[in-house]
Amino acid sequence: MRKQITNVQYVVDKKKCSGCGACYVACDCDAITIIRSEGYGLYIPFVDKGKCVNCKQCLDVCTGYTKVNKMDFDCPNNDPDIGEYRDVYYGNTLDEDLRKNAASGGCVTEVLRSGLRFGEIDAAVVVGLTFGSTIDSLVYVARTEEDILCAKASKYFPTNNCVALKELLSYPDEQFAFVGLPCQVN
Ligand SMILES: Cc1cc2nc3c(=O)[nH]c(=O)nc-3n(C[C@H](O)[C@H](O)[C@H](O)COP(=O)(O)OP(=O)(O)OC[C@H]3O[C@@H](n4cnc5c(N)ncnc54)[C@H](O)[C@@H]3O)c2cc1C
Ligand code: SF4
Ligand code: SF4
Repeated sequence: MRKQITNVQYVVDKKKCSGCGACYVACDCDAITIIRSEGYGLYIPFVDKGKCVNCKQCLDVCTGYTKVNKMDFDCPNNDPDIGEYRDVYYGNTLDEDLRKNAASGGCVTEVLRSGLRFGEIDAAVVVGLTFGSTIDSLVYVARTEEDILCAKASKYFPTNNCVALKELLSYPDEQFAFVGLPCQVN
């Protein structure tokens, strides 16, 4: 008998979960908890069957579910080497200091910073670092240029960027930018 797909537990079991955290934000029943795995510290959703009402809202926002089902997402370009994309741009900031200290030219930070400066966005979801007993990634909503600069450069840690969307749901009239990896944004 075919297994019924009712929530994102299926995606986790199929090992297609990127740990983005979108399902946690989408669930109105508070049925999903994100747990950190031993070892690599991956973010893994755990579904409380007692709370889950099988509404499938979590699956609607899940990039992993898209992969399991090989679904396209209204995407005009699909390249065998780089996957699906809407458009591709390249460039770098003219701010010498930022360019040297960013990941690959500082374009992302500059676009966000200019967006804030010129009123195109009110906030941006970014990833910085936290320095506790160990160094780890820190996802947060940046609202100032300083907050955005603090997130420059790539963090080679697991990140659950979509969790920050929960905070932004409280500000429905705001425009925000979301920085994420392809597995989190698709
Ligand atoms: C885990 C990871 C792997 C990558 N692998 C490749 C690769 O194989 N080949 C390649 O060409 N490029 C790769 N990149 C992209 C590259 O390192 C730069 O992030 C990208 O080119 C943007 O450069 P930038 O100077 O414009 O970014 P910056 O101006 O330095 O800004 C970086 C932005 O990335 C965000 N960020 C940092 N770490 C993460 C994270 N872990 N998850 C989500 N967002 C994050 C920050 O919020 C920040 O806003 C990778 C990036 C990451 C985070
Ligand atoms: S929404 Fe993200 S965290 Fe949740 S199961 Fe899908 S890929 Fe994993
Ligand atoms: S199916 Fe609905 S209630 Fe169950 S975990 Fe997903 S979003 Fe929550």
